[in-house]
Amino acid sequence: MTSSWAATDRLGVLRRYRDYLPLTEATPLICMGEGETPLVRSQRLEGRLGCGPLYFKLESCNPTGSFKDRGMVVAVAKALEEGRKAVLCASTGNTSAAAAAYAAHCGLDAYVLVSKGNIAQGKLAQAVAHGAQIVAIDGNFDQALALARAITAKYPIALVNSLNPYRLEGQKTAAFEIVDHLGDAPDYLFIPVGNAGNITAYWRGFVEYQQKGRASKRPRMMGFQAEGAAPIVLGRPVEKPQTVASAIRIGNPANWRGAEAARDASGGVIEAVSDEEILEAYRLLAQEEGIFGEPASAASVAGLSKMSRQGLDLRDRISVCIITGSGLKDPETAMAIPTTIRELPAELTAVEKAIGLA
Ligand SMILES: *Cc1c(COP(=O)(O)O)cnc(C)c1O
Repeated sequence: MTSSWAATDRLGVLRRYRDYLPLTEATPLICMGEGETPLVRSQRLEGRLGCGPLYFKLESCNPTGSFKDRGMVVAVAKALEEGRKAVLCASTGNTSAAAAAYAAHCGLDAYVLVSKGNIAQGKLAQAVAHGAQIVAIDGNFDQALALARAITAKYPIALVNSLNPYRLEGQKTAAFEIVDHLGDAPDYLFIPVGNAGNITAYWRGFVEYQQKGRASKRPRMMGFQAEGAAPIVLGRPVEKPQTVASAIRIGNPANWRGAEAARDASGGVIEAVSDEEILEAYRLLAQEEGIFGEPASAASVAGLSKMSRQGLDLRDRISVCIITGSGLKDPETAMAIPTTIRELPAELTAVEKAIGLA
């Protein structure tokens, strides 16, 4: 029987990987075309950094512009199955965008708690556009998450943060896609780490696929936090996390243990990159590869670049960097790249002269 929810030509995460997900006959197979994101081979950075085949997994191509859709589609489907009428999350931005969109698609109410002044404009615009009830609290993300837990413990509202186990189940499908695309697991996976759900989910995906005989090996998990928000690297929570990369501005990650387990079991690392390194990678990705990721996404590339500078030999190794979200979500950071926009009359010669053609 085809589900009335599946009003799209794409399979989506639920149908494509239903055998690997905790679905039942009663789970509605909702889909907005999430997943099946491009794995794009590097054109220039690969040579510049002297690494072997390097790929970028463009999670920015998901329906709301970040990987959060993969987990949200499962969490919202299960909320529907359980008869919930509303979902709630604390968010640095992308979780709220995904929750608001999928809730709107399914006729649920969405509540989002954000940290006042700590959310990129494009992400807030998404929550507003989809009609979510938005509360900006005078506190950081970690405080917003504590409130979200308290409210959903008290009322019959589904918590759709990555504490919700269905989120990680959905997110692990990105690891499946990488293996399906390459024919095996890569040698290294470079990924930004915020609340640490995604690195935990990818690791679970790679492990499951190997157990099922779909891959012969598992990658080393290379996670990167921002220097001003690097609790896992420091080994203690950070009270006032600071970084330009708002999606990873988190001082006390909910999936801390999962990230450490992924690192240790894979022989990987969790290290910090500075905002300067993040912004340099952000610009290089956009200008040398044509890939416009948001600053947090660039932490994966900044990490790769730092490790290779520090002597990690990536020649003849297959590496994948996860581009977790779209650069369009954070126009303020893009507009801070030094450039001159010349204003001229609508005259051919003036324009030719200005751009150096005459
Ligand atoms: C959520 C998010 C992250 C961090 O992922 P975690 O699972 O919180 O570690 C990184 N980049 C972007 C764009 C995100 O939206």
